[in-house]
Amino acid sequence: MSDEQELGITESKQYNTGEWYAEVVQKAGLANYGPEGMSGFIVTRPRAYALWERVQDHLDSEFKRTGVQNAYFPLFIPEQYLEREKDIVEGFDPEVAWVTHAGQEELDERLAVRPTSESIIAPYMSQWVRSHRDLPLRVNQWASVVRWEATETKPFFRTKEFLWQEGHTAHATDESAWEETMMRLDQYAAMYEDLLAIPVLRGAKPEHDKFPGAKKTTTVEALMPDGKSVQAGTSHHLGTSFAEAFDLYYTDEDEDEQVAHTTSWGLSWRALGALIMTHSDDQGLVLPPTVAPEQVVVVPIWQADTQEKVLDYAESIAEELESDGVRVELDDRDERNPGFKFNEWELKGVPVRFEIGPNEVDDEVVTVVHRPDGESKEVPREDIAETVREEFDEVYAKLYATAEENLAENVREADSRADILGTIGQHGGYVKAPWCGDEDCETEIKDQLAAEIVMVPLRDEEAEIHDGEDCAVCGEDAEETAYFAKSY
Ligand SMILES: [Zn+2]
Repeated sequence: MSDEQELGITESKQYNTGEWYAEVVQKAGLANYGPEGMSGFIVTRPRAYALWERVQDHLDSEFKRTGVQNAYFPLFIPEQYLEREKDIVEGFDPEVAWVTHAGQEELDERLAVRPTSESIIAPYMSQWVRSHRDLPLRVNQWASVVRWEATETKPFFRTKEFLWQEGHTAHATDESAWEETMMRLDQYAAMYEDLLAIPVLRGAKPEHDKFPGAKKTTTVEALMPDGKSVQAGTSHHLGTSFAEAFDLYYTDEDEDEQVAHTTSWGLSWRALGALIMTHSDDQGLVLPPTVAPEQVVVVPIWQADTQEKVLDYAESIAEELESDGVRVELDDRDERNPGFKFNEWELKGVPVRFEIGPNEVDDEVVTVVHRPDGESKEVPREDIAETVREEFDEVYAKLYATAEENLAENVREADSRADILGTIGQHGGYVKAPWCGDEDCETEIKDQLAAEIVMVPLRDEEAEIHDGEDCAVCGEDAEETAYFAKSY
């Protein structure tokens, strides 16, 4: 087998999505599986971590701009803390990893490896808040959590430990907590749309699927090309349940004691899974220029008699781009031919390629190739740092348009049980159907097709529910519109 075959992707995205995804993740150098005996854990390689850092940078600056400070809480939560909010215990109990020993000695009280941190953050918030002047209080932590799910490992989509951020806030009023919940949801949606070139739907989780202890869970959902939905970030209005459980009270302007209202919101490295799955193809990884570790690769193409002038020209371009803040790689390896280099950088997802041979030097131009669709054109050498940014915008717009088209074409309506099953079975995507609100009606669909209600519209968008409609599954009066889909 030649190097080029070993390097390339052999699975088909369309016909073998799961295997294709695993191959892209490994061959593009993003992640390795964890050691034997630790299924469900992955090693995040530098190229993937660099993508995570772009997500972090974007969100972190948005959080700080809107009043959030970063903090850090312990990895472990004492069992009695976890038990103080009963819904959290019930909700996470089957997935909690416990520490029972330190060396040979058994601990007096076992410690949970955090599955989420409300139970250790809320009690400290209660120490920090005295009066209404301390509110709103907003902290965020960048951390990892562990949820011991016994499902098949899928790097960045399903792992027992995952990287995320979790924001936690306390407010004087219910209204302020709700506004916070929606602001964070909007920031998540904007991150997907402005940084990752992925359009998302905003909605709420159905009552039976909200975060344990929450009053309302809101979600952004992204549709993958294989027709499955990714829960891409969630923001929870927690009401007063955690504040009551952890004595988070404040004195109001009349010196009366009041219970606080809290929120929490989290986005994980699932964002990377969605990024890889959405844009990549049978040649490998495809990344938008906003997050790509290398935004441009410059590939000089020379013969012995043109080597010097081609390399000088290519170097001057790479230097100019670099000094202008563009992330650029000059691939002047002597031992590899241009075709090999093209394939390798395509596999790694570099969004823009510059091809430079003797003709480009003579004509004072650069041949530009877009990774997503192979579009190729000549642009003037002059003002190249400015031109390349226009190319980045074009590549971004192409990626976004493809994803947006996939979403627009794959939201369908159904008004009967058979119609829901048939439509999802045939096309995947979202199927909107009037729903009575009863979990049993979801279970009927779930049992047959592994599709669930991934969201219902947010309250202010409920205009789309028509009076007199019946639940598509049971025929009782419909209460809301359910979005059924298979999901990651
Ligand atoms: Zn029903």
